[in-house]
Amino acid sequence: MCDLSADCSNDGTCQLVLQNEHTGIKTTEYYCKAHLVLRVWEVEDDDELHVVNATKLWR
Ligand SMILES: [Zn+2]
Repeated sequence: MCDLSADCSNDGTCQLVLQNEHTGIKTTEYYCKAHLVLRVWEVEDDDELHVVNATKLWR
């Protein structure tokens, strides 16, 4: 399961927890290992969001 692309069939599921600096709302997204890296880059460019936690899930 990968939130970036429904067609993604990469191995390795990672859980990414993000927090909005303004609202304080946390969201959890799931990505494969490769797309997690892309998403983290995106978040680092976003002033409102920051990464709370990124965890690799073994399943
Ligand atoms: Zn993916």
